[in-house]
Amino acid sequence: MSNNLSKSVQYIKSVGPKRYEAFHSIGLGTIRDLLFYFPFKYLDRSTILNSIKVREYAVAGYDGEVTLIAMVEKSEVIRYGRKSLLKVSMKDNNGYFDCVWFQGIKYFRDTFEEEKYYAISGKPVITKYGHLQFAHPDFDRIDADESKEFLNTGRIIPFYKLPQGLREKNIGAISMRRIVNNAVKSYYAEVPETLPDSLVQTRRLLALKDTIKHIHFPSSKELLEKARHRLKYEELFYLETLVAIRKSRKNLLKSDVKFDFNTEFIKDFIKELPFKLTEAQLNVLREIRKEIESGKIMNRLLQGDVGSGKTIVALISMLAAVESGYQAALMAPTEVLASQHFINISRSLNGSDIEVVLLLGSQKARERKQMLEKMNTAERCIVIGTHAMFEDKTVFNNLGLVIIDEQHRFGVLQRARLIEKGINPHVLVMTATPIPRTLTMTIYGDLDVSIIGEMPKDRMKIITAIRGERKLPDIYEFIKERVKQGEQAYIVYPLIEESDKLNLKAAIDHYNTLNETYFADNKVGLLHGRMAWSDKEEVMRKFASKEFEILISTTVIEVGIDVPNATIILINDAHQFGLSQLHQLRGRVGRSSLQSYCVVVSNEGIINNRLNPKIEIEYLSPAQKEKFKSSLRLRALLEHDDGFKLAETDLKLRGPGDIFGTKQSGLPELKYADLVLDEDILLTAKQDAFDIINDDVNLKKHSNHVILNTLLNLYSDNLILSNTL
Ligand code: ADP
Ligand code: MG
Repeated sequence: MSNNLSKSVQYIKSVGPKRYEAFHSIGLGTIRDLLFYFPFKYLDRSTILNSIKVREYAVAGYDGEVTLIAMVEKSEVIRYGRKSLLKVSMKDNNGYFDCVWFQGIKYFRDTFEEEKYYAISGKPVITKYGHLQFAHPDFDRIDADESKEFLNTGRIIPFYKLPQGLREKNIGAISMRRIVNNAVKSYYAEVPETLPDSLVQTRRLLALKDTIKHIHFPSSKELLEKARHRLKYEELFYLETLVAIRKSRKNLLKSDVKFDFNTEFIKDFIKELPFKLTEAQLNVLREIRKEIESGKIMNRLLQGDVGSGKTIVALISMLAAVESGYQAALMAPTEVLASQHFINISRSLNGSDIEVVLLLGSQKARERKQMLEKMNTAERCIVIGTHAMFEDKTVFNNLGLVIIDEQHRFGVLQRARLIEKGINPHVLVMTATPIPRTLTMTIYGDLDVSIIGEMPKDRMKIITAIRGERKLPDIYEFIKERVKQGEQAYIVYPLIEESDKLNLKAAIDHYNTLNETYFADNKVGLLHGRMAWSDKEEVMRKFASKEFEILISTTVIEVGIDVPNATIILINDAHQFGLSQLHQLRGRVGRSSLQSYCVVVSNEGIINNRLNPKIEIEYLSPAQKEKFKSSLRLRALLEHDDGFKLAETDLKLRGPGDIFGTKQSGLPELKYADLVLDEDILLTAKQDAFDIINDDVNLKKHSNHVILNTLLNLYSDNLILSNTL
């Protein structure tokens, strides 16, 4: 890296020792750091209106936001009755307007200085005296020169986040712009290129140095867009390069672990199932079999909506492993789910010579030891557990297949852990969370995907209803009626984290109250994550065998729990759950041919929150916004029963962010690009990365040195992880 760039920011004009301290304290010690500290927003001339236009808009009843640039004429605190307000009178070239604040008066009075310039953004209104006015607008300080330059030449003004460390030392928006401008002018040309020249040319990208220049001080919107494009492309290119490297290594991995799926035992097992496998289940089994027979190591994602029947596919694959002399392991995210798998699988293998073993973190040492012994001595063995089963003490005998159930995120790290233990089994990761195909192809480029795209034929649509809390007594009555018919019910309370003591207490209190009042005549069980596993197991067993009619539970039943006779789920405080969580919870019912019900309860304020999202959401306070989004989530649940549709809606409500977990996949987190919105760039970057890696996997060619260097400089952690995979 070039020398000047690693010099201290003190070399920049107008940064003295004091300011150096301030920059250093927020991690901007070098010139390079500052050059890569990008604006978080811009003021663009084409979006600025003058006060005459704005007045016309306001008179016409426009209710969107506008931005103006104006100078403060005077500011005064005006009293009315017992209250007061701050009125700042402003003037632009064309006229006058006022900004008013009813709160934070002192702060805003000190902020607005007379004769200084500000960019004001807000919703314009006309007062009853005919004044153009903004109440509590957003604003940014700019200086007089900037304002002139801006209005005359159409410059785009950048705004930088100003962490406290800078503000304390009086580095405000204007001085920050000046300092960065000095840095960019003197040093941008020294920023070395991080992409091969050939790509910069064929993809018509800005050089990195020009990108830096234009991301800070773009001379046009088009150049700003080009700069952003370059940053996104580069980020996605390196992401895909890592995926390509990983994939090429994986293709080299061979395995002589092969399973026989066609034994008499397996054929009989399938024949004796109480149902016929669906075409989709059979297809997936064929895909798994084909891959394992091919001599490669399987690393497969099995996607299927809640209730589509993934477990049986897992079990048959494990039987094939066991039939061929290997141990198989099934890992679940919670102890409750692991216990259930243990109960069900033990039952369906009852009478065979296959030993089923359960390993959980909360087991007592003695219980655990017993289980470990069984693993050692059993001739044929399936191991079920939580992640605790991969602890150091566990010794597998010829582990050939690992199945990871309900993994919402790709379990690369788990795989890395296995390899550290010196084993390299076939891996099947099962999830109900649909991952869009472009993503499985791109980020998860090294992962093969199987999909169970149909539900068993006997299923009815679950009836979903949203109700206010006042309706709870009616819902309890409804539950009692169904229970009288021999069906069962879940009542769920939110407990977002196991350590959430307050809500845990609330759930237990509800259990006690309901047990003594509405459900005094019913058999009611309680289940939560803090219970010892043997108690959890007992409760699950009793619910499964109808000894309990109603199960009151925290979110521990969210994933995987399968009691087909349960037909009602009541979800309390539903606004506290994410959409995919709600869908998972709903999936606890509708697991048989019986009609099932999901009743979602929340407070009336949320349920009746009906705004037009397109127009109004931007003007809501953060708390109102949350409330509004909650109501949208609940309505989405009502509208769709397909996990894929719901995942899409969730994505829109939450914004893509990291929900696809690049973090856990061992790949870098994205700063500039968005996997969903920037799909086009992603596909191009992927093509380029794979072409290069397929041609020169070790990046030995001279023209690829720049890639190797960038990987080593900026992505070394990801590279190390990729190497272990
Ligand atoms: P998930 O995909 O959510 O893990 P499960 O594997 O728990 O779903 O299956 C849900 C329920 O459907 C279970 O009770 C299971 O026995 C049953 N099931 C699985 N496959 C079929 C099928 N082909 N026909 C009917 N019922 C099935
Ligand atoms: Mg499941």
